[in-house]
Amino acid sequence: MKIILLGAPNAGKGTYARKIKEIYNLTHVSTGDLLRNAIANNHPIGAEAKELIDQGSFVPDEMIVNLLKEELEKLEGGIILDGFPRTLSQAELLKDITDINAVLKFDINDEVAIRRGISRVICKDCGGIFNLLKLKPKEEGICDHCQGELYRRDDDTEETIKSRLKTYYEQTAPLEDFYKNLGILKSVDANLDMSHPDFKVIKNCQEILDKI
Ligand code: ADP
Repeated sequence: MKIILLGAPNAGKGTYARKIKEIYNLTHVSTGDLLRNAIANNHPIGAEAKELIDQGSFVPDEMIVNLLKEELEKLEGGIILDGFPRTLSQAELLKDITDINAVLKFDINDEVAIRRGISRVICKDCGGIFNLLKLKPKEEGICDHCQGELYRRDDDTEETIKSRLKTYYEQTAPLEDFYKNLGILKSVDANLDMSHPDFKVIKNCQEILDKI
């Protein structure tokens, strides 16, 4: 099974991907994580990527496609693509890289996206995602899963989230029609309470994925 997760920043793609990958035994490929790793490891593209990410802009297609291809070559079996494609040109490029069975589109209101983003904390070690309002870690600053240190992403400020939302509507939202026309777009309401990520949203995703 090869699926794409589509949705505005902070719709919960990363959180849900972690659950879905366990249920269907898939590998989670997040282009945001690939870029953050490249920056942390002083990869040659790191400095340019960081500047663009911190502005809420996208990195150039060539940069992200090369990183993604490198990653996919290492993998076998099913995948969840999170954060790619983000533009129509990336969707066209993806056709030459791999086939896709379904696109799960997480619907979210802007206010919910902003609220979630400014209260999000992430584990430095395992990438686990928490929310200081709705999905609190048991111990402040410490990951429930691996005891790693929790941090806030540099691009999770209100100003940058607004800019990421604008970029999403301008450049990524057209993908919804692209995949609707291919008959593989499935919508999921992602405004539901994140304190129960195991329940409603995941159940709705399973109902869709069990049929493909
Ligand atoms: P979000 O939680 O906003 O969806 P991600 O972690 O997926 O964020 O990505 C963080 C940033 O990395 C994006 O705002 C963008 O700058 C860059 N990025 C990630 N994937 C892509 C892509 N497919 N094309 C261009 N830029 C990307």
